[in-house]
Amino acid sequence: MPGGVNSPVRAFGNVNSTPIFIKSASGAYLHDVDGNDYVDFIGSWGPMILGHSNPKIIKAIKDQADLGTSYGAPTEAETSIGELIRTVMPSIEKIRMVNSGTEATMSCIRLARGYTGRNKIIKFTGCYHGHVDSLLIKAGSGVSTFGLPDSPGIPEELARHTISVPYNDINAFLEVFESIKSELAAVIIEPIAGNMGFIPGDKDFLETLRIKTHESGSVLIFDEVMTGFRVSLGGAQELYGITPDLTALGKVIGGGLPVGAFGGKAEIMNFLAPEGPVYQAGTLSGNPLAVAAGKCLINELIKTNPYDELEANANYLLTNIKNEMFKQEIPFSFNQIGGMFGFFFTDEFPNNFDDVSASSDQYFESFFKDCLNQGIYFAPSKYEAGFISTKHTKKILDEVINKVKVIYGT
Ligand SMILES: *Cc1c(COP(=O)(O)O)cnc(C)c1O
Repeated sequence: MPGGVNSPVRAFGNVNSTPIFIKSASGAYLHDVDGNDYVDFIGSWGPMILGHSNPKIIKAIKDQADLGTSYGAPTEAETSIGELIRTVMPSIEKIRMVNSGTEATMSCIRLARGYTGRNKIIKFTGCYHGHVDSLLIKAGSGVSTFGLPDSPGIPEELARHTISVPYNDINAFLEVFESIKSELAAVIIEPIAGNMGFIPGDKDFLETLRIKTHESGSVLIFDEVMTGFRVSLGGAQELYGITPDLTALGKVIGGGLPVGAFGGKAEIMNFLAPEGPVYQAGTLSGNPLAVAAGKCLINELIKTNPYDELEANANYLLTNIKNEMFKQEIPFSFNQIGGMFGFFFTDEFPNNFDDVSASSDQYFESFFKDCLNQGIYFAPSKYEAGFISTKHTKKILDEVINKVKVIYGT
């Protein structure tokens, strides 16, 4: 395997380390093949919001497996997961299930282009929308971690239709917008960015995108693959009270199985085949196992609404870590919303990709390695967010905090 991994962010090259290989996982813990346990703050990059190996989700998968694993034909379960999602995300009038977040954003872009008859896309520097050709331009996450902001293999003819603008910068957006608005198919954004560390969008910035795309007849796409069911039940769009035209989902809605979905205004979604002319398809889309896992998880989240508790616990953890850093005069800032958080080795909390880049690599690398040695598994890059689950109890968090105190010798 290139780099020894099937997805680049799993490699530890950037932090001069070697990945751990996982044997099993339970609750807040990962267990590696060498017999070590780790408190896991990645949570499979989001889906494990109720912790690993949740008994109800495992049972839902097993029960479905007994009934068959794929039919290549419609099921009732697909309808009911669609209805569940619509209950908490009313902007999604119609939905289509796919197999990954990448498929979801890719399909949103094609649909937006087909619907508007235009080609240009505005995205924001440091936002990652999967490895879609049109969107892998100044992207965050792994491409930033490994210093590949513009991947080779994407034809220049395609790349020039995508313009990347600094995040949270209204004036920079307006300048680009005014120059291309008649050709603009879509604006796509992570309304709360989780692929350049963790940076919430400013409300007036996001509102500007809403107003301007509406004005120009272009499509506003919220990529909530990471934030959907992670920051709150209704995602970032609920927290900000902003209704996008299309939303991309993934991660949590699959309950740990490979899933994505996209949906939004019926008027736009009706352009999709077989109702409309924009083609999109998938042999395993709406897969019964994945839908069973996702449905079970979403139902649990609706029943328990754990977001305030997750946020309070993340805040507790990070406040205590910051205290240690303060004693050592190490710059440290953090933020958290629902079950997502971010921390940076910089005094001021970052507002965009350049701010994140400027935060200390050295402090990050030693913090990451020391934590890993102590059985604490944070993402191996300052360009990734952190994730907490309902299984990260106060007791476990106190153990983590005590270990951080040991590391920093206080
Ligand atoms: C993870 C992610 C994607 C891509 O999803 P995959 O399932 O990895 O293809 C897209 N957008 C955002 C915001 C993500 O965090």
